[in-house]
Amino acid sequence: MNNHVTVLEIDGNALKHNLNYFKQKLQPKTKILAVVKAFGYGSDGVQIAQFLKDKVDYFAVAYTNEGISLREAGIKTPILVLHPQIPNLPSIIEYRLEPNLYNFKIFNAFLKLADKILLMNYSVHIKFNTGLNRLGFWHTDIPKIISSLKETNHIKVASLFSHLAASEDLEEQDFTVNQINNFAYIAQQFYKHLGYEPMLHILNTSGVVNYSKAQFDMVRVGIGLYGFGNDEKETSQLKNTHNLKSIISQIHLIQPGETVGYNRAFVAKRPTKSATIPIGHADGLSRKLGNRKGYVLINNQKAEIIGNVCMDMIMVDVTKINCREGDEVIIFNTQEMILHNADVSETISYEILTSISQRVSKILKK
Ligand SMILES: *Cc1c(COP(=O)(O)O)cnc(C)c1O
Repeated sequence: MNNHVTVLEIDGNALKHNLNYFKQKLQPKTKILAVVKAFGYGSDGVQIAQFLKDKVDYFAVAYTNEGISLREAGIKTPILVLHPQIPNLPSIIEYRLEPNLYNFKIFNAFLKLADKILLMNYSVHIKFNTGLNRLGFWHTDIPKIISSLKETNHIKVASLFSHLAASEDLEEQDFTVNQINNFAYIAQQFYKHLGYEPMLHILNTSGVVNYSKAQFDMVRVGIGLYGFGNDEKETSQLKNTHNLKSIISQIHLIQPGETVGYNRAFVAKRPTKSATIPIGHADGLSRKLGNRKGYVLINNQKAEIIGNVCMDMIMVDVTKINCREGDEVIIFNTQEMILHNADVSETISYEILTSISQRVSKILKK
């Protein structure tokens, strides 16, 4: 049992609200894949999946062991593994996970294994590179893929998919539309020559926001479920799901000239009351938030971080705040606070969420 008092509360109602927000942007028949990789964007992939399992059609994880955790927790929903490796393929089959096959190396390895153990119509997903240049076959690979597929009934293509490089950026609209058109062309080739019609999907969260016409059969929503849209307007329609809380461990009264924390980075100019909180950079709070760049909320008031962020602790200025040891501390509980931390840390909401470390307890509140 993790008795670290710093806790991430995952707001189930907010998750449901966000899912419904995206559903109402889509055709009723469009399927929804919930992306729960990286521990559900820094929360708890298993608890999120248990909560969403009857509300979505698919889950996706990045790595095989993330999918295994979901299966071990009893999740029966189809799970797409976005980034498997050849040595993972036997476990993928053992746990009935569905691999993304993104190049001939892994495609042929899976086919060989499927033939050897006589799988029947095992669901796989084939990814095409349409411009992100990260993972995926090129369109010139299509004839070879189709001829291999026609020779086997051990695997069946559940879906063809691709991923957009700049779906959030309307200045890259031409590029994105070109990716979508290339994908549609690839799908057409398959539909013409394969003999059956796999599902198609290309949109992530900001894809749904900006290019909902390209929803095809399914969309893959990640960050949107966790409260962040494409821009301020979208984000304001969503609810924050990640509420990070702690308590005050100790309060000190510091005299002018005394210092707080490592490297004596904070020097008191006047009598100062500081509160020590058990969360540090090892819990995912960036050192960039030190020295009054970041703040927390104590009894609804802003308390700035003073001195450097330590591995396990921060000290905050509570000179003007009426508070006691043991009082609750909100590290963040709004999108605004998360975006502030992202801004100060020179990063994006995704990284603030996924940085929340495994040391922090996670609890989903329905
Ligand atoms: C992570 C990921 C997503 C989810 O993206 P969001 O922007 O968080 O919605 C979708 N598809 C793929 C291939 C991904 O890797």
